[in-house]
Amino acid sequence: MDLQLTGRVVVVTGASSGVGLATTRYLVEEGAHVVACARDLDRLRTATAAVPGPGRAHAVACDVLDRDAVEAMVAQGVELFGRVDGVVCNAGRSLMASIGDTTDEQIRDEFELKVFGAWNIVRAARKHLSASDAASVVVVNAILARQPEVRLAVTSAARAALLNLTRSMAEELGREGIRVNSVALGLIDTGQWRRRYEAAGTARSYEEWSAEIAADRGIVLGRFGRAEEVAFPIVGLLSPLSAYCTGATVDVGGGVARYV
Ligand code: NDP
Repeated sequence: MDLQLTGRVVVVTGASSGVGLATTRYLVEEGAHVVACARDLDRLRTATAAVPGPGRAHAVACDVLDRDAVEAMVAQGVELFGRVDGVVCNAGRSLMASIGDTTDEQIRDEFELKVFGAWNIVRAARKHLSASDAASVVVVNAILARQPEVRLAVTSAARAALLNLTRSMAEELGREGIRVNSVALGLIDTGQWRRRYEAAGTARSYEEWSAEIAADRGIVLGRFGRAEEVAFPIVGLLSPLSAYCTGATVDVGGGVARYV
C-alpha cells in the first residue's frame, strides 16, 4: 500500500532513540524527509546516519523546551526541504515516583516537559502545516493519561493534561486543516526501559525481568511492545490516507488499558 508520504516533510522530536528513531526510519523508508531532533547531536547523527533512504533524515540539535531553538530548527527544516507536512511530538521521559516522593521542582518540570514539549513545536510549525494539503500532528502520549499509576503519579497527571490539550489543539488547528491525534503507549522496549533494567542491578536477563513486569502490569499480550509497533500507527496517522481522523487517541499497549 502506498501511504502517500513520498516527498512529505515531517519533524520528529526525540529521534535519536526508541519510538522517535523507529518512526524516522519508517518515514524515510516511505520516501518522506525527516527533520530529526534531540539534545545530544552526536548520538542523533550516528542514529540517523544509519537510516536508509529513499527519503532523508536531517539531524538538528534541539531541546524541545527551548522555544527559540525549536523555531530555529523548524526554520532550518523549511530552508532545507521547503515545507512541513507533519510533526511528531515524541521527545520525553517519565518520572518514576509517587507524589509523596516528588519535589515541587520535579512536578513543575514534568508538566513543563509534557505541555511545552508538544506546544513549542506545534506553534513553531503551525503556519507551515497550514500551508500543507495534508497536515498532521501526532502527539506521543501514554495510557497513563487515562489510567494513572501511583508509582508514576506526576507523569500520569501531566500526561492527562497533555491529552486534554491535544484535544483542544485538534479543534483549534482543525479549522486550518491540521489534524491532531495521539498515540497512547503502554510499556515499550526502548532506551527508557533498558536504563531502568541497568539501574535495577538484577542478575536476571532483560527478557526475564521485562516478562515479569509485563505479567505484573497485566499486559494481555504478555510482553513489552517494540518501537516499530508504535511507529506504524504514528506513520498511519501522518498519512493522508487518515484524512478524516482527528482528535483521536490510538492505544498501543498490548491490552494493558483497563478502560473501555
Ligand atoms: P527514549 O528514551 O528511547 O528516547 C527519548 C528521545 O527523546 C531521545 O532521542 C532523547 O534524546 C530525546 N529527548 C528527551 N528529552 C528531550 C528534550 N528535552 N528535547 C529534545 N529531545 C529530547 O524514549 P522512548 O522512545 O521510550 O519514548 C518516546 C516517548 O514515548 C517519550 O515521550 C516517552 O515519555 C513516551 N512513552 C514511552 C513509554 C515506554 O514504555 N517506552 C511509555 C509511555 C510513554 P536526547 O536525550 O539526546 O535529547
